[in-house]
Amino acid sequence: MKIGTTKTRVPGCGVSLGFTLIELLVVVLVCGGCSKQESKESLEQRSTQICAGHLKSFVAAKKRWAQDHNSAPTDTPTFDDLAPYFRRGIRLCPDGGTYTIGTVAELPQCSIPAHNDYFKAHPPEEP
Ligand SMILES: [Zn+2]
Repeated sequence: MKIGTTKTRVPGCGVSLGFTLIELLVVVLVCGGCSKQESKESLEQRSTQICAGHLKSFVAAKKRWAQDHNSAPTDTPTFDDLAPYFRRGIRLCPDGGTYTIGTVAELPQCSIPAHNDYFKAHPPEEP
């Protein structure tokens, strides 16, 4: 069996580029593997950012709840307490992590450490 060679002549300069089908296949497989790895990483990054956004929403909801109820920094609201402060309902972690609301003074947490690390590195802005 003869393996074919694809020759491409570059117009105007008389140079021809030759690639075997095996070489082309290797390039395609390597590029495909890279893009799969990159898309997995970008999906993880995206879900981390989404989760951090949810945690920021909890911070805002806790502040409003604390103001409305004259709460002390050590008071801990429940999910039901905070639900009215989420216009579109309480959002869940996109990767299945569970949220811990914490006291009014504490930052909420996700059970996935990478999400917490990102959230702590990008804390909510003070009003
Ligand atoms: Zn999370």
